Amino acid sequence: MTAALRALVLSFLLPLAPAALPAPASPAPPLISPRLKSAALASPMPRGNLGGWPGDTGLDIAGDHLEVFALAAGTLDYAEWGHTRWTTGKDTAYSVRLALDEPIPWGEHGERRITHVYYTHLSKVEYPQREGSDTRKHVVTGERIAVSGIGNGTPHLHLGLLLDNQVEQDSWAYILREHEVRKVLGNYKNGARLP
Ligand SMILES: [Zn+2]
Repeated sequence: MTAALRALVLSFLLPLAPAALPAPASPAPPLISPRLKSAALASPMPRGNLGGWPGDTGLDIAGDHLEVFALAAGTLDYAEWGHTRWTTGKDTAYSVRLALDEPIPWGEHGERRITHVYYTHLSKVEYPQREGSDTRKHVVTGERIAVSGIGNGTPHLHLGLLLDNQVEQDSWAYILREHEVRKVLGNYKNGARLP
């Protein structure tokens, strides 16, 4: 189309369709995932299937390279390669630890506090950040933070909930078991599919 012809076409179109003008460039808003049965929390991996097993230090959620989201608002402790034993072969070993803005009460009388969420076997992180970084990324509830990957040869996300600011995962006293994680998310059964 010649410039003159384009100008002629535009002169007809513009008065009719002002909404068709290109919007000024702006960054895309962060994606937000659906809420869980525990409505204060957002789905960590929509369409993932809960596949936990009792000996694990968290809940395994099956899914092949699905988007991963912040369970609740918080600040990233790190989003980088490592922080997991599963780093060989096909395994993708990015991990994220999220310090929650508002801890989730836990225990018979809510006397404990879930203070951190740990994600691993990730293939990609949205906001790469080294542990101990001076600047730490804050994310809102349901904001996309990663893409799942492979752990121990199997496509899944490992989701850990950590108690009382004890984040080293060297004691069962501060780690929720898989059935406890399912309870926090909203009493989901093993095998259930996340919203
Ligand atoms: Zn696991």
